[in-house]
Amino acid sequence: AYLDRIAAVEPEIHAYLHVSADDALATARDVDARRAAGEELHPLAGVPIAVKDVVVTQGMPSTAGSKILEGWIPPYDATLVERIRAARMPILGKTNMDEFAMGSSTEHSAYGNTHNPWDLDRIPGGSGGGSAAAVAAFAAPLAIGTDTGGSIRQPGAVTGTVGVKPTYGSVSRYGLIALASSLDQAGPVTRTVLDSALLHELIGGHDPRDSTSIPEPLPDVVAAARQGALGDLSGVRVGIVEQLQGEGYQPGVQARFEESVELLKEAGAEVVQVSCPHFEYALAAYYLILPAEASSNLAKFDGMRFGLRVEPEEGPVTAERVMAATRGAGFGDEVKRRIILGTYALSAGYYDAYYGSAQKVRTLIQRDFEAAFEQADVLVSPTAPTTAFKLGEKLDDPLAMYLNDVATIPANLAGVPGISVPNGLSDDNLPVGFQVLAPAKADDRLYRVGAALE
Ligand code: GLN
Repeated sequence: AYLDRIAAVEPEIHAYLHVSADDALATARDVDARRAAGEELHPLAGVPIAVKDVVVTQGMPSTAGSKILEGWIPPYDATLVERIRAARMPILGKTNMDEFAMGSSTEHSAYGNTHNPWDLDRIPGGSGGGSAAAVAAFAAPLAIGTDTGGSIRQPGAVTGTVGVKPTYGSVSRYGLIALASSLDQAGPVTRTVLDSALLHELIGGHDPRDSTSIPEPLPDVVAAARQGALGDLSGVRVGIVEQLQGEGYQPGVQARFEESVELLKEAGAEVVQVSCPHFEYALAAYYLILPAEASSNLAKFDGMRFGLRVEPEEGPVTAERVMAATRGAGFGDEVKRRIILGTYALSAGYYDAYYGSAQKVRTLIQRDFEAAFEQADVLVSPTAPTTAFKLGEKLDDPLAMYLNDVATIPANLAGVPGISVPNGLSDDNLPVGFQVLAPAKADDRLYRVGAALE
């Protein structure tokens, strides 16, 4: 049924870069046969899933939305993909994204735009717009995203889907094509909070192949989602972050946020105001730390080891000249912009002023979170300042594009988990997201509060 749905909607949505129909059907038939034989299977066995193209999948293209990886077929699975396959979930295919997960609209994909199912002239968010659009268009019941600065939560907000960025280190990064290693985290994209919890439970947990993986077990996110669905939040302290609302937020987005805060109060939560004064500098710090790490992570795409190889049009074919020709042709403008920014921020003489200062700001943001979590069990804000904007509207203005992530980036800098849940429609009839943030390793709180809002 999902493959039929994909065939019907893909000409308009373009959520997928690759559809693995034969593979998915073979897994589904195998599950049927095992069920018929009475075999005990994982609760998600047979439930199809779409995977963001930045996650490597054995035998299936994995381009990260870039021309430089065109034609590369990974020889191994990411840990989270191994777990999906072990649960016998059919993988429907790989979803579109901004190149190397750099962007907020999926327009930086080298393979064309994805369209928001709510309005085809609008962006589906980014960088994981393909995963969010697939779920929103019923072209996948579940999907995997990655969130370095908001790429699961912001697409969730603008497509009316649920998106979770788990605690840093709680889902293995082994097999993610790295953007910024200290910020990257994979997580679920789904239609309901309980669906996200079931998927989070499956993909999360310790992995010795990721040195930053948290060794202790995850909190019980499924139980928390079930508890939240009962609608009782008595004893839960909810903090409204003063710096993540108000001015700069679309009136309809702000109004839906305030209505949901009222619903939390009605459910018994105690609501307080908290101040995180350094969040003002989060975007600036992020756009130094991320390009710095990305410039190092992307150095491996050299025209020798993976995918594309372009030889210089004239002159000698030296390693350096092949590398320059390949990177010149294979990377898009946004990727080049960030590599240049990153190498500049890391260069001798500027390192302390840029990268060093950004790291200090990161510590201040972590301390803001610590102080706020002394006053509240969870923090809340709108997920994104506006609803989905028109395709092309912000493409020529990188700073306007970066501003979409003001509310999501602080969580990545501090490593704390966050969820975006659908929060009704704004005055323009487009979906709005409500963000809940929790302390590191307390992902269960996201699910309890998120499910209470459904
Ligand atoms: N939009 C942000 C950026 O462009 C976030 C990206 C992400 O989370 N992968 O960096």
